[in-house]
Amino acid sequence: MNSFDINTYNRPVQCSKCGGMMIFAGVGEYRCEDCKHVDYDDYGKVRLYIESNRGATAAQIEKEIGVSQKSVRAMLRESKIEITAESRTFMRCEVCGDNIRSGRCCNKCETAFHRRIEEEERKNHMARLGKGIGMERESNATGEKRFKRE
Ligand SMILES: [Zn+2]
Ligand SMILES: [Zn+2]
Repeated sequence: MNSFDINTYNRPVQCSKCGGMMIFAGVGEYRCEDCKHVDYDDYGKVRLYIESNRGATAAQIEKEIGVSQKSVRAMLRESKIEITAESRTFMRCEVCGDNIRSGRCCNKCETAFHRRIEEEERKNHMARLGKGIGMERESNATGEKRFKRE
């Protein structure tokens, strides 16, 4: 899966409430690991909007939530957006070959992808905070298991 890359659509990196790290929680949703504030990338925003505004056009989406028509079209091209449940055709995950209903890879592989970029981001985050790697959990001894390896 070396050459595999996923468009992360303006993934939120830092929590807008507390400055903590945003961790991928699935389908365009991210959760702050410190205060649990939830935020969305462009895909998550578009997905939420379409859920309550069936048949919305790209122009409408751009106007309402500020995600460019270009991004919306890119999502459609990558079949990131499930248009209707009836018309779904099963595709295969590009990484592991599992059946998927939208996008280019299954949730498991997408999550694994995000865990990798989060590892990178964590280093930047710690550098910003001026802490050394490995000291980051000192204030959170009861921390849950966030990095379940499979
Ligand atoms: Zn937060
Ligand atoms: Zn997969």
